[in-house]
Amino acid sequence: MDLYKTNKVYNDRFIYCVLFKYSMSRTLCPNCHRPEKACICAFTADIANEIQVVVLQHPSEVSHTKGTVALLAKSLRKCQVLVGESFDDEQEFLQVMAQYQLVLLYPSEQAHFLDEDVRIKLHNCQSNTQDGPHTQLTQYRLQVSIENKSKPLCLVILDATWKKAYRMFMLSTKLQQLPQVCLPDHLANAGQYHIRKVAKKNALSSLEASCYALAILEQDEQDCLPISPEHAGKYQPLLEKFQQFNQFQLSFRPEHKSLLRKLDDS
Ligand SMILES: [Zn+2]
Repeated sequence: MDLYKTNKVYNDRFIYCVLFKYSMSRTLCPNCHRPEKACICAFTADIANEIQVVVLQHPSEVSHTKGTVALLAKSLRKCQVLVGESFDDEQEFLQVMAQYQLVLLYPSEQAHFLDEDVRIKLHNCQSNTQDGPHTQLTQYRLQVSIENKSKPLCLVILDATWKKAYRMFMLSTKLQQLPQVCLPDHLANAGQYHIRKVAKKNALSSLEASCYALAILEQDEQDCLPISPEHAGKYQPLLEKFQQFNQFQLSFRPEHKSLLRKLDDS
């Protein structure tokens, strides 16, 4: 009997210890629900974006621990993440379509550089037949938004590799029908994102692309300085936090030192 008791105590303790240890190693941050070691809360900013953001995230991006979309979604007050590959029959996406005037940030062949002209057209949606051919073309491409001029703007971004983003675009007729914009070159090539191994032109993270596009779309008319990586209005704090976040992510990599050296040299 005594032996049984002792064993039982031992067993209970053993189980308790194992459970305790297990739960400790799996402790999740109550805020971002990530393991404590990978908590992103220190890198979030609180930004009252005026324009709603909807991130269409490819399912294969969800399991990636890089978490730039998580950081974006935690930092913007108006941000929704929808996971999927084709969105034509996606109920939540259809709801967003009914509620907002959508603009897709995607460098398709039809995409317009997001400049002041496009920004004004999207905001005012006023037809002006006196405009030159370029504006008329913009006008034509932005016809969808003109039809929906009473609805608030919503920026749609695709969170996927280039190949998968293309697939998402091709699979979703509704995305192809949206007015499409892309970032001007000086922003499109300003990526701070060094987590993905291949550094290439036009390889902005979803977070950076969203910040720059929002900064342009929400830019005050009094503000004459063009949006740049150093001048991104209220999105600047988030871009700076994102740089710190990248350094933090790199610190998890065994090869991070050599990578950092390379970045310093470039
Ligand atoms: Zn956290």
